[in-house]
Amino acid sequence: MNRVLIAAIGVSIVACSRQQKLVEATPLPPEPPPAIDHAASLSHYGYDAVLWQHASAEAYRLQQQGYELARLRLTENLKVADKRPPAVIVDIDETVLDNSPYQVDAAADGRIFDQATWKEWTDRSKAAAIPGAVEFLTYAHGLGCHIYYITNRDIREKATTLKNLDSLKFPDADEKHLLLMEGTSDKTERRARVANDNHVVLLVGDQLRDFDERFKDRTVNDGKNTVDLMADTLARYFILLPNPMYGTYRDAVQGKGTDEEKQRNMIDWFQRNRN
Ligand SMILES: [Mg+2]
Repeated sequence: MNRVLIAAIGVSIVACSRQQKLVEATPLPPEPPPAIDHAASLSHYGYDAVLWQHASAEAYRLQQQGYELARLRLTENLKVADKRPPAVIVDIDETVLDNSPYQVDAAADGRIFDQATWKEWTDRSKAAAIPGAVEFLTYAHGLGCHIYYITNRDIREKATTLKNLDSLKFPDADEKHLLLMEGTSDKTERRARVANDNHVVLLVGDQLRDFDERFKDRTVNDGKNTVDLMADTLARYFILLPNPMYGTYRDAVQGKGTDEEKQRNMIDWFQRNRN
């Protein structure tokens, strides 16, 4: 190879390497930040609650225990004479029907509650009974109690809910005894309607609001002061079942905004409550 050719190759290599450096040095446009899936994030926050409700023997036992206590309270309260027929009022979700499989699926998919998937779940009418519920309500019915189901399920879920209750042999699973949500989640008016014609001897629910709407307010002491104020009435007339998966306690912290706002409110709550 002659010197001229070698020199030409050398120039060419230097030129190539300069060009490469130029390409490398050109700044790339900034990557857009990864989209945050706030629903998935909220779903993650709920893992423990769903796991506990669905898979723990502790939840299973607490549900049985609640209905054992219900029998004792019922026996006592039926001793009070009243001309009206006795009635027991129960909530449905997480009180007589177990929707934890819906919550497990949602958590596994990184979703949170939404009406469309909820309706798909209730359309199947396949929820299992909460442990002790059928036995207790059958017992109460046998003692002459009417059983009323007051639920915030939607009116469009009426047929499938009755089908589910009936398939599990819940007593009084008919249209007359099922009071679905009519515009408001506040159950006060529906409870009053039952109390007009019946002597309500016991209520069972997984939310304190299943007993009294005053428990919607969690602004003072997280509502615990209201529990103390109503201690005697609660002890005598209300059986509370466990449900950490959703409810007023969580709504009071997260609010009713977007998933992003709910997540922010939750993080803020932990920061405010640091000890
Ligand atoms: Mg409920």
